[in-house]
Amino acid sequence: MQLEFHELICFLDYEVTVFDRSQYDENGYDPAADDVQAASADHNKIFRASYGNEIHYQRLALESREAWISEDEDRRLSSGGTNYQQLFVNSGMLRIQPSDHLATLEKETLDSMQRDGLRDTQFVESNSTDCERAEKLGWKEKLLNFQIPDYPDKSYEAVLDSLAGFVRCSNACAYYREKADAKGIKFNLGSEHGAVESLLEEASSIEPNKKKITGLKTKDGVIHKADTVVVAAGSFSTQILHDLSYHLESSAGSLATFKINEGDTELWEKYSPERFPVMTWKSTPRDNSGKDTGSIYVLPRTPEGLVKIGYRGIKWTNFHPAPQDVPFAQDGQWSTPLPLEKCSVLPEPALHAVSQFVSIFMPEFENTPFYSTKLCWYTDSLDNSFVIDYVPTYAENSVFVCTGGSGHGAKFLPILGQHAADILENGDESSSFMRPFWRWRPDAPRKNGLEEGPGGPRDIGHI
Ligand SMILES: Cc1cc2nc3c(=O)[nH]c(=O)nc-3n(C[C@H](O)[C@H](O)[C@H](O)COP(=O)(O)OP(=O)(O)OC[C@H]3O[C@@H](n4cnc5c(N)ncnc54)[C@H](O)[C@@H]3O)c2cc1C
Repeated sequence: MQLEFHELICFLDYEVTVFDRSQYDENGYDPAADDVQAASADHNKIFRASYGNEIHYQRLALESREAWISEDEDRRLSSGGTNYQQLFVNSGMLRIQPSDHLATLEKETLDSMQRDGLRDTQFVESNSTDCERAEKLGWKEKLLNFQIPDYPDKSYEAVLDSLAGFVRCSNACAYYREKADAKGIKFNLGSEHGAVESLLEEASSIEPNKKKITGLKTKDGVIHKADTVVVAAGSFSTQILHDLSYHLESSAGSLATFKINEGDTELWEKYSPERFPVMTWKSTPRDNSGKDTGSIYVLPRTPEGLVKIGYRGIKWTNFHPAPQDVPFAQDGQWSTPLPLEKCSVLPEPALHAVSQFVSIFMPEFENTPFYSTKLCWYTDSLDNSFVIDYVPTYAENSVFVCTGGSGHGAKFLPILGQHAADILENGDESSSFMRPFWRWRPDAPRKNGLEEGPGGPRDIGHI
């Protein structure tokens, strides 16, 4: 309950209290802290504006990019230029193709960039004009060239995206939390008075056949009344508001890190954001049904020397019996995050994909043990879009949701709340161009993997 709330509360002139079960004011969103389980609490996440033909997300990402840059500039000025770390790092992103030619999605992205006058920011490895431009603009060093194993005279096709990079996610959350705090927003944090146990309901006198939400109860038993409750609990949202069970599914991405010692100057330099881009690769092309099972990525090292690799080709589900009153379940089950203490072991197929990636693209680490491994929980929606709207099954606009996103929300942190606030205040009159994509959509088919259900190859209990 952090990302969306932060901006939401800054934007509106209301009395707002944020509840979160993690003691963020003390742990600083440290991803390794014992009480932290949130997708946002992480060293870094990819920033990209490349969205195939979904040009609305391209434009949203570019809006966010400007906001990151402007926020960083404010931070730089207020720190006097010292002791300051950028939240957005424009390291570039090299999207390595699974073969020696461009995949359809990549061509669509190039077309969308062209449409918005941004084609010059993209450099295609095999395109000599692009390479010359990359050289002139200082990006050539990041157009890394890798041979395709077993085909020594062929190399992977790749696109270097100079708009992209990464955001320092935990630092950004801590920064925005402090900003909100300074504006007088109340934070109830911690496993007792910050943890939401249940939402409070009563019959509506205005819409007779419906209930309305009147507030929430925290784990310490205290009742908190509210005119509107906003549920923005990432992959835990379904457990707080069961009406989300059709719309969302929790699934896990697999993360592994290596640690470089600063004394190892060669590696320290090579994997620095100044020299190394974010890299993505697909170990296998999309299958005939369009399913992507090979997607994997690496980010440049952090200031602490961590190099993070993420495998998202198979997002693991954790099916188990759903509570009786859940409106949607599959064979009586639903997928929610595993407890934190069970999230440090990666499934074998993820380990295999990471090793394959490392052996081709990061050979220096081939026999190095991981520094850490972790399952990190996505909030998958029916179509990869967020769900940001009032919940129509409840009366009087008493509950609003701000969730979903299927793995691409971090990059929007500085602006997502403004769009959400606009929708909260204005509903269908909202000026947000994202309104049509984020509405409550009970008629959308259950796709995007959410149709698979328990017992399938992604179900972590069955592999
Ligand atoms: C593996 C992985 C990789 C990703 N990579 C990228 C990327 O490269 N780029 C990008 O832009 N995005 C990425 N994302 C997506 C991005 O991280 C998310 O969209 C975003 O962080 C979601 O933020 P959130 O606040 O909605 O949820 P979360 O960050 O999950 O926060 C949920 C919060 O709810 C709190 N909570 C849960 N239950 C309760 C309760 N009962 N009471 C009180 N509080 C509760 C938790 O403590 C937590 O703070 C990735 C996600 C994953 C999982």
